[in-house]
Amino acid sequence: MNSNYILLGLAFALCFVLLSGCTNTAKSDTLSTGTISKDKNSTSYNPNSVPGSSESNSSDQKSDTTPSTTPESEEALKDTPGAVINTPSNKRLDLLPLGDGKYSTSPKVGYIYSCDTQFNGGGAFKDGPWIEGSVWDPSKKVTVDGAVVWKNGKLTITLSGDKRRIVSNDLPNHTTGVFPISSNDDAYQYDRNPNSIKEQSIDISLAANPTLVDNPSCGSGTVGIMLSGVPLFNGFDAGGRDAVAHEIQDSCGGHPQVSGQYHYHSESSCLNDSGGKATHSDLLGYSLDGFGIYGEYGENGTLLHAADLDECHGQTHAIMWDGKTQVMYHYHFTEDFPYSIGCFRAKPVSLGAGGGESPGGQMPPPR
Ligand SMILES: [Zn+2]
Ligand SMILES: [Zn+2]
Repeated sequence: MNSNYILLGLAFALCFVLLSGCTNTAKSDTLSTGTISKDKNSTSYNPNSVPGSSESNSSDQKSDTTPSTTPESEEALKDTPGAVINTPSNKRLDLLPLGDGKYSTSPKVGYIYSCDTQFNGGGAFKDGPWIEGSVWDPSKKVTVDGAVVWKNGKLTITLSGDKRRIVSNDLPNHTTGVFPISSNDDAYQYDRNPNSIKEQSIDISLAANPTLVDNPSCGSGTVGIMLSGVPLFNGFDAGGRDAVAHEIQDSCGGHPQVSGQYHYHSESSCLNDSGGKATHSDLLGYSLDGFGIYGEYGENGTLLHAADLDECHGQTHAIMWDGKTQVMYHYHFTEDFPYSIGCFRAKPVSLGAGGGESPGGQMPPPR
C-alpha cells in the first residue's frame, strides 16, 4: 500500500514537471507567434522596407516587452498618430520615412486614402543612394538641372459668389528644370523622364467656402492647384511608391507627366511661404474640395509632421481666408509622407473635360 502511494506521488510530481514544462513551451510559442505576425503585418504595409533595418528592429523589441500584442492591437497602434511616424514636432528630420505602398482604403493618419489600389509602373527606374531601406535622406537627393523661364504663364483666380474659379495654363511663374531629362544630367542615372513640359488648359470652379462632410473621400492623382498655377499630385508615383523619394523633380519640386502636365508632389520651395519663426504658414494653393493648402508651419510657427495632423492631413484653427481671420479646416504640407492631402474632408470637384487631363475626363496616371 505504502509503495503504491509513493509511486502515485512520484507520478503526480512527474506530471507536474511535465505540465509546467508544457505550459512554458506553450507560452513561448505564443510569444514568438505574436512577433512573427507583427513582422508580416508591417511588411505588408511597406513592401520596400528592409526587415533588418534599424526601424523594424526597434519595433520588434517593443513587441517582445508586450507579449499580449496581437495583430489587432498592432493595427490600433498604427492608427495612433505618435506610433505612425514617431516624430517629435517642430524639428526637421534628417531621414524621412519612405511612403511606398502606404495607401489605405479608409482615412488613416500618415497614409493616402487612395481611390486606386492597383498601381502600374512608371516613374524612376532606379533607387538613388538617398533611399536607405525604409527611410530616405532628402539632403542627398539629386534634382533635375536647368533654369527654364516660362514667359507665357497664365493664371487667374476669381472669387464670385460661392465659387472660386481657377484658370491656368500650367506654365509656372518660376523656372523649371530641363525636360526631358538630359543624358548629361546626374538625375538621368535614376529617372529618364522622357516628357516635355507642355501648356495645359485647366479651368476649375471650387467651393469658395467648403463644408465638412461626415465621410472623407479618397483621392487619385491631382489633389489641388497651387498659386503658381501648377497642379499638386498626391504623394504617389504611378507605381504606388513615394513619388518625392523615388522620382527626380527639378529644384522647384516639379516635373511633367505623360501629357506634359507639370506638377508637384510636395511643397515647392518656389512657392513663397513666410511661415515659421512664430507665424503660421501662408496659403499656397487650393485643394480640389475648396479648402486651403498651407505650408509646413502650424500655429505659432510650429513645424508640422503627419502625426500632428488628422487623417486627411489637415487641422482646424484660425487662419487667414479671403482677407479675413476665421476658424476653418485647412490642409498642410509636411516634409514627411504623405507630404500633402491624404483624403478630402469636403466634396472634391472632378477635373472634367476642359481641365488639364486627357479626353475622357480622367487625369492621366501620375508619374
Ligand atoms: Zn494650420
Ligand atoms: Zn510626378
